[in-house]
Amino acid sequence: MYVINPEEERREILKRYRNLLSAWGKAGEQKNKRMVRKAFNLAVTAHKDMRRKSGEPYIYHPLEVARIVAGDIGLGETSIICALLHDVVEDTNYTVEDIRRMFGDKIASIIDGLTKIKEIFDHTGTSAQAENFRKILLTLSDDVRVILIKLADRLHNMRTLDSMTPEKQLKIASETIYLFAPLAHRLGLYAIKSELEDLALKYTEPEIYASIARKLEVTAVSRTRFINKFIYPIRKSLASQGLVFEIIGREKSIYSIWQKMKSKQIPFEEVYDLFAVRIILDTELENEKYQCWQAYSIVTDYYSPKQNRLRDWISSPKANGYESLHTTVMSHTGQWVEVQIRTRRMNEIAEKGYAAHWKYKEKVNSESGIDRWLNKIKELLQTPDPNALTFLDEFKLNLFADEIIVFTPKGEVKTLPARSTALDFAYNIHSEIGNQCIGAKVNHRLVALNHPLNNGDQVEIITSKKQHPREEWIDFVATARARSYIKDALKEHKKLFAEEGRRMLEEFFRELGVEPSKSHILRFQECSKIGSTIDLYYKIAQGELGLKDLKECLQQHDKGKWLNIITRPFSRSKPHVPQKLSEDVREKMRQKQEPLIEDEVEYRISDCCNPIPGDDIIGFKANEGQIWIHRTNCQEAIQLMTKYGNRIIRTNWTSREANTYLAGVRLGGFDNRGLINEITKVITEKMNLNIRSFHIDSTGEIYEASIMVLVSGVDVLHQLMAELKKVKGIENVSRINASTQSSK
Ligand code: MN
Repeated sequence: MYVINPEEERREILKRYRNLLSAWGKAGEQKNKRMVRKAFNLAVTAHKDMRRKSGEPYIYHPLEVARIVAGDIGLGETSIICALLHDVVEDTNYTVEDIRRMFGDKIASIIDGLTKIKEIFDHTGTSAQAENFRKILLTLSDDVRVILIKLADRLHNMRTLDSMTPEKQLKIASETIYLFAPLAHRLGLYAIKSELEDLALKYTEPEIYASIARKLEVTAVSRTRFINKFIYPIRKSLASQGLVFEIIGREKSIYSIWQKMKSKQIPFEEVYDLFAVRIILDTELENEKYQCWQAYSIVTDYYSPKQNRLRDWISSPKANGYESLHTTVMSHTGQWVEVQIRTRRMNEIAEKGYAAHWKYKEKVNSESGIDRWLNKIKELLQTPDPNALTFLDEFKLNLFADEIIVFTPKGEVKTLPARSTALDFAYNIHSEIGNQCIGAKVNHRLVALNHPLNNGDQVEIITSKKQHPREEWIDFVATARARSYIKDALKEHKKLFAEEGRRMLEEFFRELGVEPSKSHILRFQECSKIGSTIDLYYKIAQGELGLKDLKECLQQHDKGKWLNIITRPFSRSKPHVPQKLSEDVREKMRQKQEPLIEDEVEYRISDCCNPIPGDDIIGFKANEGQIWIHRTNCQEAIQLMTKYGNRIIRTNWTSREANTYLAGVRLGGFDNRGLINEITKVITEKMNLNIRSFHIDSTGEIYEASIMVLVSGVDVLHQLMAELKKVKGIENVSRINASTQSSK
């Protein structure tokens, strides 16, 4: 419990303010400090009577956000002032106009942006978060500081998430993993990105988080010993060549260790790249490249590098500005170790992102990186898609995709998402070049439009005036930009024919003695199962539909009935309902009513993650009023929570007895005779469980099996997994869940 002590609080506030100033690091300039002090005073007064959920004075929050902005991101006076004032307009009686009078236009406009974002995230009821995210990006294009301060705000809220209700925790953690961490990543704020991910994991999967943290702690001593031994000869050699440097062993974040465990399906003990060794060189800008390669040469003198694992982001930096030289080498104890080589400047950018970059701005070409990124965002926003969710998906696709670098015939560099095709490249140059693209020459070899590009390809586009975009193009382009240009061009192309098609259709109607009214045309469209009227006209103009089809459609109904039908609204396609479990299993579940939900409502166990008693679960209220039960770590649930946080319902398991919940285990190992028999025995005899399905794939020596069983809860499942591990020939056992399930 938090106990209020005004005197102590006053001292703590001042202490935190001093921490902020020292994080800022240049308190020397009188004038700057004066404005920050003014903002601090205003924030203290404005939030005077407010407290955080934890009971602490509210002012701690803006002070901490300002400290993150100054220290972790490296921003200056304007941003610090804005961070201090970021909640003032939203939560107190002060207005943006008040701020404008006291601090000027620039600060007022940033505060205005921050207030709008806060309204969007904190106070919207049912509207989809995706649309909100788009609004944020629109604001972002005005002043990137808005989004940087918002990230700091989110980081501090994540750090203090403990005092929130579990529902709020899940909503905020989901949003963080879905929107904010990728955004931080894209902006190159690696330190903030990792912390956000780790904190989100802590709340979505507390047990996994705790177990990995514990294991890291236990193995810390032996890891340190290994690193010291590994870097000893490198350190000596670097020093003897007169280089000034720092060399450290950097641990992977808990979240990324967990990602690796999941994607490779291995336990913690088998994650070998738990850390990377980083060499940071202190050098002049003009010697950077040379000295990094010098260090590389020293490292590979002692340890042999893995083929194809050299990454040179010094010669061609990532789009977010990341520069570094990475190699993976074999240590003397037979373990691969990643070595990252970079200069102090590069390290600052890698950790703090572009804000750090601004410090070096005078010396470095700032055209690339953030400007380019912001331009890309603007482009996306300028080709609006009425469906915000599609927009978000496409945006996310671009966020997560790795990048490739390709060249124009003149040697100009273009950065594209991985899996881009020749056609993406064409649209990247110009929409008309894309529309008229008939093929390409990749490294002087003729290829088709859908040819996937690789890093380093040189691409020349071949066009023809006769070409026009096709529907199927949409399926193979990887960039949102290409997709939206193709859609636009297709629409244009169809419009050209639509007019003619409409005239033809009206003619058909008259021939048959029926009025070509709007409702009759719609009925014909329904009849022919065509999505839009434009498509209908287009098909008629192309000769794919004709008088005969219209006649058939009319004959299916006598005239009276026809009119009767069309006065009712046409039935829309049904909303997508996830596949359900087999009827008998579902029936059993219904009888048991296991998850405890406050009201008497119908609930469904979602089969994307197959939650079973003992799992952390949430309820999600669907449109039809039913409650869908998901595991809190289910990918689908995370998306749902992000988009419709207000529909989350607190859910718990009640008592249970019968083995009625479907769960899956995946096994792998070396094939041996009688193994299937052995596995079946463990499940049915030892554990007394029912097998629902058994699937085994064997490729020579190695096999992989997935088995679905009915269990009463998590403890039984874990017991089963422990028993299976004991069987000879079974090397790994894991639970099948949403993110790793490959087949049903
Ligand atoms: Mn805030």
